[in-house]
Amino acid sequence: MESFSNPAFVLKSVKNVVFEDRPIAPLGPKEVRVHVSETGICGSDVHYWQRGRIGKFILEEGTDMVLGHESSGVVVETGSEVPNLNIGDRVAIEPGVPCRYCAHCRDGKYNHCEDMVFAATPPWDGTLAKYYNVAYDYCYKIPDHMDMEEAALVEPVAVAVQICKRAQLQAVDSVLVFGCGPIGLLCQSVAKAYACKKVIGVDISDGRLAFAANFAADSVYKMSMRSETESPEDFAIRISKDIKAKFDLGAGADVVLEASGAEPCIQVGVFAARPEGRFVQAGMGRELVSFPVTEALVKQLNWTGSIRYSTGVYPNAVDLVASGKVNVKSLITNRFRFEEAERAFELVKEGPILSLTKISKMQSIRKPNPQLPDSVFQMFSMKGKSVIITGASGGIAHEVARALAEAGASISLWYHKNPLAEDLAKELIQKYGVEAHALKVDVKSWEQVEAGVTKTVEKFGQLDVMIANAGIPAKAGGLDQTLAEWHDVVDTDFNGAYYCARAAGNVFKKQGFGNLIFTGSMSGHIVNIPQQQACYNASKAAVIHLAKSLAVEWADFARVNSVSPGYIDTPISGDCPFEMKEAWFKMIPLHRDADPRELKGIYLYLASDASTYTTGSDFIVDGGFCCP
Ligand SMILES: [Zn+2]
Ligand SMILES: [Zn+2]
Repeated sequence: MESFSNPAFVLKSVKNVVFEDRPIAPLGPKEVRVHVSETGICGSDVHYWQRGRIGKFILEEGTDMVLGHESSGVVVETGSEVPNLNIGDRVAIEPGVPCRYCAHCRDGKYNHCEDMVFAATPPWDGTLAKYYNVAYDYCYKIPDHMDMEEAALVEPVAVAVQICKRAQLQAVDSVLVFGCGPIGLLCQSVAKAYACKKVIGVDISDGRLAFAANFAADSVYKMSMRSETESPEDFAIRISKDIKAKFDLGAGADVVLEASGAEPCIQVGVFAARPEGRFVQAGMGRELVSFPVTEALVKQLNWTGSIRYSTGVYPNAVDLVASGKVNVKSLITNRFRFEEAERAFELVKEGPILSLTKISKMQSIRKPNPQLPDSVFQMFSMKGKSVIITGASGGIAHEVARALAEAGASISLWYHKNPLAEDLAKELIQKYGVEAHALKVDVKSWEQVEAGVTKTVEKFGQLDVMIANAGIPAKAGGLDQTLAEWHDVVDTDFNGAYYCARAAGNVFKKQGFGNLIFTGSMSGHIVNIPQQQACYNASKAAVIHLAKSLAVEWADFARVNSVSPGYIDTPISGDCPFEMKEAWFKMIPLHRDADPRELKGIYLYLASDASTYTTGSDFIVDGGFCCP
């Protein structure tokens, strides 16, 4: 299966499943392609596997179907008309997409749509494959703190939310839930999240009741089995009286949620409901059962069913899981690798005894590769990318900005005192036809940095790259400089770089992508002589280690690297005395300082998609100075 591009778990015919390499379906303009992470297995999956049909949905002779419908994943591709999702977004997938146009859909009751495309419902393929295409509006971005298992289990939570919606739950309600399997448990939890007064779980299994008592229900009730000598009606009346008395329900429960599908539970439920009470049938059992119709008639019972989900239910379910009000994690009893999918199905088939939701761990934790062009020149292209570069009036920044603009980037040039950057902006616009502007930002001020980033994002729509480049040299050695000079260097070279990183990082995290490049220095690696500049050296060493630290912290959404130039022929070193420079040239293996254009390549490499696997690295460009 290693060589498959889209491995899938396919039902070929009843009880016959295989792993197959399925073609990757073309992506519609309003669809996203999701790399599936986790999939829960439920009774309906097992039903198709064992019988090939549920009601009118039949796996026809000669056709096959990918199984699975409770899934989460990561967006790896977006159609041309997808407004709200980006590559890298983690999502919960709603498995059914309706037509949106029929009377049911327009009424918000799309669970009745005749043209519903529902995962793993013949003839539609399910989600137990590497990739699944889904309409963007049926795909929900989940918050960072929610994990992929929780996102996959939003599906059964949505089923429970729909059931509770049908019951029109209110805080004053007493709620009797029959069945303490996954859906029953989730109904109990959702009812508690909706602040219902009293929630009681009913089941016949001690194990499930013990779990329910710990999970969400206020109380649990063990239903006994009817003896041969007692009529079903007498049994239902006796048990319902017992429940009403035991839980102080007066004339009966305000709401009965029937999630077992078992005939005795349906019968007890009708008797246990209060006059005018609400009863929602959610469990699926035998097609025909004997129903206490006179009792229901006399108490004017409001009976209804519940199927799948309708408008607003899925986002509600995401919120309930995200807020921690419904704890789906504790429902997971078994985890399987994708390759073990059949074993997961075997286990769920055992049904009633092991009734909690299983999840099959679909894919390895390996993240998908980025989509890269074949052409190396295209990899270095900056078209469509926007860049901030600080210290933009300086010599290094000038050449780096020219390089990135030539490669197609929009550029925001930040300067502090020297307005040379204004001229550079004009040059970039004229010469390279890109968008560019100069912005006066003092990187020592967090407020100015934050405002500068906001302004740049407003102008360019996004921020792809932050180059934290601004820096000043130390005026003297550690003992000779004043404290004010010390603080000025640290505040500019280290704190200023951090402010730029922080402001950009906030944007990167929200976007789900970004790229931070610090200008370090070889002085962060070695101690220069003869000049004394402890403060500068220490600040640059801090910047280099900050880059590595942020690279690890931001690995999910941004890359972070640093460039450590050696001696560069720029105005910053222009004032140095002839003798000092001669001393440097003697020590540099290449016996010269650098033309700033010799840094263009490394910055373009780091800023572009040529370096998508490079993060946490420092690049020394020093003519060999650090070697000896
Ligand atoms: Zn399901
Ligand atoms: Zn429809």
